Amino acid sequence: MVFTAGIHGDEFEGPAALWRLAEALDPSQLRGTLLLVPIANASAFAAGMRTSPVDNENLARIFPGNAEGTLSHRLADALMRTVVEKADILIDSHSGGVRLAFVPVAGFYEGGDVSAAVTARSLQIAKQMGIEYLWQLPPVNGVLSYEAARRGIAVCGAEIGGRGNCLPEDAENYLGAYLSVLAHQGMIDPAHKRAETTACLEGDWQTTPDAGYLETVVSLGSRVGKGETVAVLHDALGQTIREFPAGFDGRVMAVRHLNSVQSGDLAICVVKETIR
Ligand SMILES: [Zn+2]
Repeated sequence: MVFTAGIHGDEFEGPAALWRLAEALDPSQLRGTLLLVPIANASAFAAGMRTSPVDNENLARIFPGNAEGTLSHRLADALMRTVVEKADILIDSHSGGVRLAFVPVAGFYEGGDVSAAVTARSLQIAKQMGIEYLWQLPPVNGVLSYEAARRGIAVCGAEIGGRGNCLPEDAENYLGAYLSVLAHQGMIDPAHKRAETTACLEGDWQTTPDAGYLETVVSLGSRVGKGETVAVLHDALGQTIREFPAGFDGRVMAVRHLNSVQSGDLAICVVKETIR
């Protein structure tokens, strides 16, 4: 089993939890092989940035990488070939970084290039994390978890927290989730199992066509009704450019934390709730 975190250098919940996991485990009691990569993207982490300052690449869009490319492409190639492709299970932990905040979600892929067998196994692992919600991830080429799933590896791509910091409870949530999956998979003491998650969020975010100052007017995790204003975009003089209403009754899965937005940035993320 492989755990990766720090693919984005401004997300600290996964790294903090993996450091604690390494301290919590006794290798002599571990069944199977565990590889932990707490900070996958050292140059982005050193700069506190989502992307690498060396080549401005987003590591989460360029897997499986290229051994002849720039630093980030070579890093992606090395991670894929020497770590991830050896795994039966990959858990890739993210957060909202400096710009966003997420409710806790354990993501899985369904359909597309991902086989039914890998989907079933990935959903099982996402449930075993035991965090608040499951989330059907959008299939995006170049994302580590998606590229691993296409290669037959069972994956969970998770999001907890953000805001450019690491709340202790968010790191604890990830740590409990890691221990739970290890226990469910028979690798450590079954006492660490959490109850499996069944609440599922389905949907994607809506981007802003314009730059400006984005004010989110509902709280993270809250339920909103169809047509309810979720965020308001202002210009540099504070005038309202547009409002972003919920397209349906749903839950606010992520919010913008950094108020300044560019065209194409996340504006609102209202998703539907189901049970899996
Ligand atoms: Zn990320």
